[in-house]
Amino acid sequence: MADFDGSAIWSEALEIARKDIPEQEYLMWFRLSYKALAEGTLAVNAPNSFLRDQFNRKYHSFMQNIIRELTALDLRLEVSAERAMDSTPRPASVAVEEILASPSEKPALSEVERSAAPKTSLYYDVSGRKHQKEQGIAVDNTPRIHPSLRQDYKFENFIVGDNNRFTFNASEAVAKSPARVYNPLLIYGGVGLGKTHLMHAIGNYVFKNVPEKRVICITAEEFTNEFIQMIHDRSTHEFKNKYRNADVLLIDDIHFFQNKPGVQEELFHTFNALYDSERQMVFTLDRHVKELKDFSDRLKSRFDKGLIVDVQPPMYETRVAILKQKLIQSGKSVNVADEVIDLIANNVSSNVRDLEGCLVKLTAYADLVHKDLTVDIARNLLKEMFNTNRHSAITVDSIIRMVADFFKLSLSDLKGKKRSKNIALARQVAMFVIREVTEYSTTEIGVEFGGRDHTTVMHSCQKIEQMVKFDPSFDASIQKLMREARESESK
Ligand code: ADP
Ligand code: MG
Repeated sequence: MADFDGSAIWSEALEIARKDIPEQEYLMWFRLSYKALAEGTLAVNAPNSFLRDQFNRKYHSFMQNIIRELTALDLRLEVSAERAMDSTPRPASVAVEEILASPSEKPALSEVERSAAPKTSLYYDVSGRKHQKEQGIAVDNTPRIHPSLRQDYKFENFIVGDNNRFTFNASEAVAKSPARVYNPLLIYGGVGLGKTHLMHAIGNYVFKNVPEKRVICITAEEFTNEFIQMIHDRSTHEFKNKYRNADVLLIDDIHFFQNKPGVQEELFHTFNALYDSERQMVFTLDRHVKELKDFSDRLKSRFDKGLIVDVQPPMYETRVAILKQKLIQSGKSVNVADEVIDLIANNVSSNVRDLEGCLVKLTAYADLVHKDLTVDIARNLLKEMFNTNRHSAITVDSIIRMVADFFKLSLSDLKGKKRSKNIALARQVAMFVIREVTEYSTTEIGVEFGGRDHTTVMHSCQKIEQMVKFDPSFDASIQKLMREARESESK
């Protein structure tokens, strides 16, 4: 036992317990001071036998577990009610009897008690790492940096257009009054359209303006890994403790939880705990909640309590604005002609990240080669980036063409505006097949069909699903088309 600092273990265990139980309960029952650590027993002292007995009845096994998890040792917790033998002065405190006399009032810590509290305590940051935290007097002037929020994802540098105005406003409203307006807030949409940016912007806003609020930001993948680790280490308590104590919980890309019932279950309980105690949650995902596959229905229905908003690909004008702003932000004094901006904005349409990628490449070129960026040079430099976009369009186009052939129509019929019955059906079939065999979201499919709304795509897919159920020969045709589409995809 010589290597273990019993007093530190005890104060850390208290710290953990404190996060997990109502403040009033804590102040009432946890007035125990550390006594000794010897022979596998961690001994603490209660001020009187009444408190000792109550503690043992209500919280002994709870604390016992915390201590075991914390130390990974088979330590026994022993609570006695003698006068403390050690010299650690007990803080001049609100008398226990006083608290017991008025259990309904939340006793505040007195100034004396505050200053008598231990100078350092341990806390966990969002990544679960332990830290020593200075309490009280020391004033830290260095700007606080959140360990998992990207500092450059702010509201100030997010370009608002028709494609994202509603979502931007909802995000700002949530940041300004967490858990008061829309809870949870769900942001969905295609890749590279600013979902993560907005979610971090909410986190950054709260982190900066309400420092006492605990912001936890994590990707669904990290959350899942931690969850698995937690099961492996049997550190359930620490895991739950961490997430259920968030004031603002941000989880990115929750479609990752599809097909993972265990972690969905955990999220469900975390959700309930946070929702009930009025903490804000924000989630992002790449498709509408209704389109999540293998996803717990009760979790989905919880999401309906809040607001679900989407981000759409930016219009041409917004793309130009984004490019110009990113150029200024990069701080590079590269002169990019309007024609070059126009070239990019025309060729990269469905992903802001790709717009940025083009600029990075151009500015790198200008830095290294010191030549004027002509439109021709730019086109040459970026052709692969333009190609990547075209490449995915080819796959989708080939499916649309295949379906068009089947219905004896043309590609442009299906992509166009005509609404005759036959064309409309073929279009719906094509949307359905693309949805089934590719990773395209309904938003992205909508873009491929001349900028149709994602809800149109959703309705189309639902309609075909229904028809397939009731018409075996139609079903057979659809199956055949899907098979061919898959084959052409894998080529
Ligand atoms: P998503 O999470 O939707 O895949 P991100 O939030 O990661 O997309 O955005 C990709 C990149 O594009 C980020 O660098 C982000 O800052 C930028 N971005 C996206 N939308 C906008 C916007 N409207 N204004 C400024 N930058 C944007
Ligand atoms: Mg993202």
